[in-house]
Amino acid sequence: MTADTDCLFCKIVTGEIPGDVVHRTERTVAFRDINPQAPLHVLVVPREHLPNAAALAEADPVATAELVTAAKAVAAAEGYDDYRLVFNTGADAGQTVFHAHLHVLAGRGQTWPPG
Ligand code: 5GP
Ligand code: ZN
Repeated sequence: MTADTDCLFCKIVTGEIPGDVVHRTERTVAFRDINPQAPLHVLVVPREHLPNAAALAEADPVATAELVTAAKAVAAAEGYDDYRLVFNTGADAGQTVFHAHLHVLAGRGQTWPPG
């Protein structure tokens, strides 16, 4: 398992920094976003440190799929059939934490196109 000692989400995965963890699988951990943008706003991350979704998909397709199935389980556990999944990839797309993470948003109407 590769980890980055300076990475915030690696520290939440290992428990070094507390996170409000709602779901775990062999390859993923899901925790509530500290600054929620919807009534449900959870981040599903691979346990392995990879900087973005594209790098993750290349390195570990199984973990990539597991993020999506974990996201469904997180939404379903809170009673949501409808939810939005977002991977911000790169600073210009709004990525601020460079450990791949899938945003799961639900509980309010979602506009399209997003801002
Ligand atoms: P990004 O902008 O990279 O797509 O998403 C990073 C997300 O991480 C943001 O929504 C931000 O609110 C969240 N975040 C930043 N720091 C922390 C933290 O320490 N704990 C948790 N749970 N979420 C965080
Ligand atoms: Zn990391």
